[in-house]
Amino acid sequence: MQKVQQAGIEGMQPQDFDRVLTSMCTEPHPVAREAAERFLATNPGDPGTYQTVADLEGRAIELLGAITGLSDPAGYITSGGTEANIQAVRIARNRAETNNPNVVAPKSAHFSFRKAAELLDVELRTAPMKNHRANVGAMNELVDRDTVALVGVAGSTEYGVVDPIPEIAELANDADALCHVDAAWGGFYLPFTDKDWQFEQADIDTLTIDPHKVGQAAVPAGGLLARSAEIFDPLAIDTPYLETTSQITLTGTRSGAGVASSVAAMEALWPGGYREQYEISMDNAAWLAEQLEARGHDVFGPELPLVTADLSVPMTDELRDRGWRVSKTGSGELRIVCMPHVTRSMLRSFVADLDWF
Ligand code: PLP
Repeated sequence: MQKVQQAGIEGMQPQDFDRVLTSMCTEPHPVAREAAERFLATNPGDPGTYQTVADLEGRAIELLGAITGLSDPAGYITSGGTEANIQAVRIARNRAETNNPNVVAPKSAHFSFRKAAELLDVELRTAPMKNHRANVGAMNELVDRDTVALVGVAGSTEYGVVDPIPEIAELANDADALCHVDAAWGGFYLPFTDKDWQFEQADIDTLTIDPHKVGQAAVPAGGLLARSAEIFDPLAIDTPYLETTSQITLTGTRSGAGVASSVAAMEALWPGGYREQYEISMDNAAWLAEQLEARGHDVFGPELPLVTADLSVPMTDELRDRGWRVSKTGSGELRIVCMPHVTRSMLRSFVADLDWF
């Protein structure tokens, strides 16, 4: 077998996580890593041939259903939140009867919805926010008879905020449109909060929840869930050369690694391990917010384990030079995501570096 040394990547190391404060991905759980490697050469896109991984995908969806409050879940493991959001918009567009479809979302919606709109020729209407949260009144003003979906975000990318999901679902219901919730990042933290975001509680149709983020699975592993299998019908494409006759996924060949590592991570961590991680990450985020406030910064959060603060732009560049991987919100605030790899001691040395400036 060819060695890594001979393959031209000798000495190359993947990014260490010890100074990464901005990513929404994290180190996979050890069992997730092992499962990913074992199923690397399998393809759940061809379940007739790769039966074991297809069965594992069923288990992944069952577990994601348990996490999101859905007793009879349908869905599949996507390449990530982007694919799941694109597919949700595609379902909404294909099932509706208009030639002029639009999707109404809060301004905080992830940029993957812009990709979806462009690819699918759907108009994306974004409503202004109220203190970083979706403003349902403003969303309502954008809804018309061509609205095919309303989007709520449960754990926004920039501020970690959860939108009023039941109200958005009600709006969608009144408009005869699909209600899609993007819990790509927040989904594995939310079960331990008092937020109303779960499927059956809130009358949601489709939901994005990514095992490769807080779920601690290996990349690539996103999740798209739907209230019933029929919701996926508008996506079905005939697959004449495969043993199975149709496919609802966006990609054809998919990584069995993502599927297997999702199951391994969830079996290991749901619910106790994820609860513990949520508590640790929230404590860390609250500690960081306190430290930054004490230094005179204007801080937002944590609603979920994510904190923003008004540090100046050059300071974030200097932090980067010191090895910290930090990023800014669209408004220029420093944004710190307390993922499972982010420990208190990491944050202590980050704050110590801030004091140095
Ligand atoms: N939705 C939300 C809320 C996100 O935060 C992200 C990424 O951070 C995505 C969707 C896109 O996920 P991915 O990068 O896995 O495609």
